[in-house]
Amino acid sequence: MSLEINQLVGGYGQIPVLHELSFAVKDGQVVGLIGLNGAGKSTTIKHVIGLLRPQSGTIKINGKTLAENEDAYRSAIAYVPETPVLYPDLTLREHLELSIMAYGLDSDDAWQRLTPMLKKFRLDNKLDWFPDNFSKGMQQKVMIASAFMTDASLYIIDEPFTGLDPVAVHDLLALVAAKKAAGASVLMSTHVLANAQTNADSFVLLGDGRLRANGTLDELRDQMQMPDASLDDIYMAMTKEA
Ligand code: ATP
Repeated sequence: MSLEINQLVGGYGQIPVLHELSFAVKDGQVVGLIGLNGAGKSTTIKHVIGLLRPQSGTIKINGKTLAENEDAYRSAIAYVPETPVLYPDLTLREHLELSIMAYGLDSDDAWQRLTPMLKKFRLDNKLDWFPDNFSKGMQQKVMIASAFMTDASLYIIDEPFTGLDPVAVHDLLALVAAKKAAGASVLMSTHVLANAQTNADSFVLLGDGRLRANGTLDELRDQMQMPDASLDDIYMAMTKEA
């Protein structure tokens, strides 16, 4: 089991945003984290990557909490944030080298994995440029390349379908499929339900910091008694019910 969240209560201050949230992401599974603005998707992700600490409950990656083994926990996760985080004084090459060091990767192996990705993203001739000046989509591609060159067991992608052009979305989904085939798992948060429906194996639906539903599309259809419904139909019905 890559990620196990059990009875997580958490947030930013005394008043919790997440209420006894439990769900899991199995090895080789792509899970869509779905919810309206303010539902708690980013807060959940911040807890998983260790930026926020649980008030109660546990988060385990490969069976261990952050407190139990910080190095193993952190190196098991690769994160693509919605808003790229880049250093103004570092070139693209230096950014990638920094990530290689942070993950303790073998440099030759990492560059072997990076080269085709950079070519695909048309960044291979920009290694000595400063990504701080790149377009938003190009900056997102830098974050994607840094994440996907690792051997992480869990890839967390925040809003993959906004900001990237259609070719880049296609390339990202191919990277996701390759990691999945290699047994890694992927958690992606999104508002774009049609894309989530076609690209995730199962879904975690959040509302007001609580788990509203969790399962494959067929399981959600059964729960809602809506055969043939799309994820969008189910989500709309669920928000009305709430
Ligand atoms: P969106 O789709 O708009 O990105 P989201 O599902 O990611 O929404 P969160 O950002 O997790 O939602 O927000 C959940 C709740 O936490 C909201 O009520 C929000 O006001 C609150 N919140 C978010 N960030 C902070 C913060 N830094 N400090 C205090 N409260 C916050």
